[in-house]
Amino acid sequence: MTSDDALRSRIANNLERVRERMATAAARAGRSLESVRLLGVTKYSSLAETRVLFESGCHDLAESRPQDLWDKAKELTDPNLRWHFIGHMQRNKVRRTLPLLHLLHSLDSERLLLELESEAARVNLRLKVLLEINISGDETKTGLAPDSIEAVVEKALASPHIELCGLMGMAGLGTDNESARPYFERLRELRNKLQAKYATANLNELSMGMSGDFEAAIEAGSTMIRVGSALFE
Ligand SMILES: *Cc1c(COP(=O)(O)O)cnc(C)c1O
Repeated sequence: MTSDDALRSRIANNLERVRERMATAAARAGRSLESVRLLGVTKYSSLAETRVLFESGCHDLAESRPQDLWDKAKELTDPNLRWHFIGHMQRNKVRRTLPLLHLLHSLDSERLLLELESEAARVNLRLKVLLEINISGDETKTGLAPDSIEAVVEKALASPHIELCGLMGMAGLGTDNESARPYFERLRELRNKLQAKYATANLNELSMGMSGDFEAAIEAGSTMIRVGSALFE
């Protein structure tokens, strides 16, 4: 077996195991597997590993640093590949990143929103975004504090080149499935409350769940799980 074969079978096995875990959690929650999208987080992965994951059938890939996304997007040009951005976006990286994106998960300030709207208007596209919410309250975690959310939602809904699709959040530090569950439920409740208040919005997406806690996230209503280590270990 060549090292390329070994890489392919390792990633294919990991992908199968993750999909089985997804299916079990979805069944337990009475949901269809198709209602949850798997995003492969490639931030610690080489270009070769990333390519193999895509070729194994994971067509949604996520990066947390603009430069890494630029580098990989230059090499991986299949039109079926959808790039997601899940890290902190500095405003001076917006111009180069925005045309590559399928979805930005990490809108975390009004200043960033203004920059995204202005750049999307300049190049005449409509950018899909999620609001990143600091659900755990950990100071080390990024995201909007719950009490500043409504102002940003209103500005996003009034931005013609921004399409607000839902919310993203992370459980607290060092949580597992059981301890993460209340955070995910809190994010879903917040989404439901916002959806009820802003009837014209379409807040269908809930981006929550990582390698160690995605079963709890799926049971709490996640529509997108962001999985890195479980796919590449
Ligand atoms: C790294 C990262 C992930 C993936 O974490 P794993 O535990 O490796 O699955 C998910 N979401 C965000 C925002 C990340 O930065």
